[in-house]
Amino acid sequence: MTTAEATAPESHTFEADVAKLLHLMVHSVYSDKDVFLRELISNAADACEKLRYEAIATPALLGDDPKARITLLIDAENRRLIIEDNGIGMSRDEMVEALGTIARSGTKAFMDRIQAAQGGEGAQLIGQFGVGFYSAFMVADRVDVVSRQAGSDEAILWSSDGKGSYTIGTADTVNAPVRGTRVTLHLMEDATSYTERYTLERIVKEQSGHVPVPIAILEKPG
Ligand code: ADP
Ligand code: MG
Repeated sequence: MTTAEATAPESHTFEADVAKLLHLMVHSVYSDKDVFLRELISNAADACEKLRYEAIATPALLGDDPKARITLLIDAENRRLIIEDNGIGMSRDEMVEALGTIARSGTKAFMDRIQAAQGGEGAQLIGQFGVGFYSAFMVADRVDVVSRQAGSDEAILWSSDGKGSYTIGTADTVNAPVRGTRVTLHLMEDATSYTERYTLERIVKEQSGHVPVPIAILEKPG
């Protein structure tokens, strides 16, 4: 495998609907922000399932790492939470599409409903719909996503503060997952509890019990 060094990232603005959705997330008065973890774990598990399916026709995609896993890595010292999977990963084009636009019908429906909603009702809708990747911005003021598609030599870094634009570029492969996706949440000051093991254990138990991929919780030594 070759190693590639990072190149200068490009800046892109979010699709208008995404910017609107992010604004709603960040300024949500919804007290139960825990849903973000369920959403990121669900994406990680989906990515592992996609890989498993693709590997039926192309077993080489699994390389020497055939067992699906999801890791929650606590970095309390830097107030970061990292969610990593060894699933299918994303190409650059997939990241631009998946993390910068709203393709999903559920999210569109959510947007329509929340715009018509009043007061506390909007808060309930967030829980009801499960708003996917963008819910990370309920707890993080910066989100970095490094992804390497199964079989690819290249890793891509997507980064945003959720305020209208994101950057995308190639990542240094030395620090990238060998396969799959690493989502790093730079937690807001009032979201420090997500660096506590027991908090994560509780949420995983409550909300991700059905996930068919093992979830490990690790702590980065301080
Ligand atoms: P949904 O999961 O309903 O499609 P999300 O907002 O949760 O909506 O995610 C948007 C898309 O981003 C996913 O459909 C997927 O293509 C991509 N994605 C997000 N997280 C990951 C991941 N960990 N691995 C691979 N693709 C991902
Ligand atoms: Mg999802």
